[in-house]
Amino acid sequence: ASASEDKDLVIIGGGVAGYVAAIKAGQEGMKVTCIEKRGTLGGTCLNVGCIPSKSLLNNSHLYHQILHDTANRGIEVGDVKLNLANFMKAKDTAVSGLTKGVEFLLKKNGVEYIKGEGTFVSENDIKVALNDGGETTVRGKNILIATGSEATPFPGLEIDEKRVITSTGAIALEKIPETMIVIGGGIIGLEMASVWSRLGTKVTVVEFLGQIGGPGMDTEIAKATQKLLKKQGMEFKLNTKVLGGDTTASMIKLDVDAAKGGKPESLDADVVLVAIGRRPYTKGLGLENIGMELDERGRVIVDSEYRTKIPHIRCVGDVTFGPMLAHKAEEEAVAVVEYIKKGFGHVNYACIPSVMYTYPEVAWVGQSEQDLKSQKIPYRVGTFPFSANSRAKTNMDSDGLVKMLADPETDRLLGVHIIGPNAGEMIAEGTLALEYGASTEDIARTCHAHPTLAEAFKEAAMATSSKAIHF
Ligand code: FAD
Ligand code: NAD
Repeated sequence: ASASEDKDLVIIGGGVAGYVAAIKAGQEGMKVTCIEKRGTLGGTCLNVGCIPSKSLLNNSHLYHQILHDTANRGIEVGDVKLNLANFMKAKDTAVSGLTKGVEFLLKKNGVEYIKGEGTFVSENDIKVALNDGGETTVRGKNILIATGSEATPFPGLEIDEKRVITSTGAIALEKIPETMIVIGGGIIGLEMASVWSRLGTKVTVVEFLGQIGGPGMDTEIAKATQKLLKKQGMEFKLNTKVLGGDTTASMIKLDVDAAKGGKPESLDADVVLVAIGRRPYTKGLGLENIGMELDERGRVIVDSEYRTKIPHIRCVGDVTFGPMLAHKAEEEAVAVVEYIKKGFGHVNYACIPSVMYTYPEVAWVGQSEQDLKSQKIPYRVGTFPFSANSRAKTNMDSDGLVKMLADPETDRLLGVHIIGPNAGEMIAEGTLALEYGASTEDIARTCHAHPTLAEAFKEAAMATSSKAIHF
């Protein structure tokens, strides 16, 4: 890197937020530098988040299905064995292929990629401690903070990523634990609980709210999900708070307070997964050197154009406001470059889908029934079960339902909530409908191919605006 050359945009962090902004800015003809300290691009998502977890989810589901769901389909299999080392290797191959692909894309778009840790030394200058030793300085007319997030630790339980683990340890265990306690029944907790439970671990999920999936998940869907996951062998302790733990013995002991009306108890397990949320990451960034303060949750404060209080320094992704999701980071990354280059950009925060990649998948977009109730917004509900969908029946895969919420006056779609096979793909249709301000009648009158799971989506819309045909 040349210290003398001013860049149009210097990006700190090469995660989804940072690398997407880098590509977009390169496409817009800007001179761009992206600084990443991990050694590979793609951030949490590609290296230790979305991608490795989905490899393990996909392959553990396949294994579980071969063990438990073949005889009824007329498929006789012999001795089925899991090779954990190769199972992990398949994940590593997916990760390295994708991170290298991102590096290629940066090159293709003329982005300078520096491997090292970036620290503000002034409002325009970033000092980089290079991974290979030594340091350099880059100067930017605009600077983008995209440093992401890290797992929130549990006070008193020291993470060693072997016995007391975060998601990073959970995607890399070297042997299948007999027992696991998951603290936090949110998305990470349930995805990782699914992986290990399918491989044979006895998993107990402890969640202090009254429902799994976090507060964003529609309560009816959360209940249905919990029932299905319980059938798969997971145990749940809701309304239960972990008070503390002791890791000195070979089994880890956790003290939990009682679920409503119960007695305090002590649980033990070989491995404890801490999955109580993530927090913004700004360590080493030198924000104090430029007098930039964080909000009470450690987030970088930005305005609606992602500007911090120093206007040429902007910030997107997990390190600032909004849901900690890769696709949200990606939308913001494109928008922030458009703001810098053209003066306008756009992200519709009301239309960001959520997907939990358990089996079945759970996906939603827009408002939940409890959201609408608490805001006293009137709504109409329509549902359609996959047990009445021909493709789901044929596939012998018919647990779950599609639920739609619409304005009773205008019929405008307000929310879509799906639990079922391929819910994560199907939610794209709901997101598009919501983005375009569709009514449920618009969806109901749109021809959907037969036999597809997507017909359940159309029929849920029919059930909302009038009546479903097949139920
Ligand atoms: P990050 O991906 O965290 O990237 C920030 C990067 O900045 C990091 O690579 C870090 O090394 C680098 N950095 C930090 N400080 C510096 C510095 N001073 N100098 C240089 N580099 C620095 N989201 C989904 O949408 N779908 C999913 O399926 C999904 N699954 C997930 C599974 C797990 C187990 C986890 C943990 C997360 C998952 N997420 C998922 C969330 C998703 O990973 C994040 O929302 C996303 O990675 C945020 O992108 P980001 O670029 O803001 O931050
Ligand atoms: P989360 O906020 O989704 O869930 C944390 C859960 O832990 C909540 O339900 C909370 O009530 C519970 N909790 C908190 N403290 C507790 C305590 N002391 N005892 C018991 N329960 C407690 O957070 P997460 O699951 O850690 O995920 C972090 C972020 O990563 C989220 O923003 C999530 O959206 C993102 N992520 C997304 C995906 C996906 O999109 N598929 C996958 C993984 C992670």
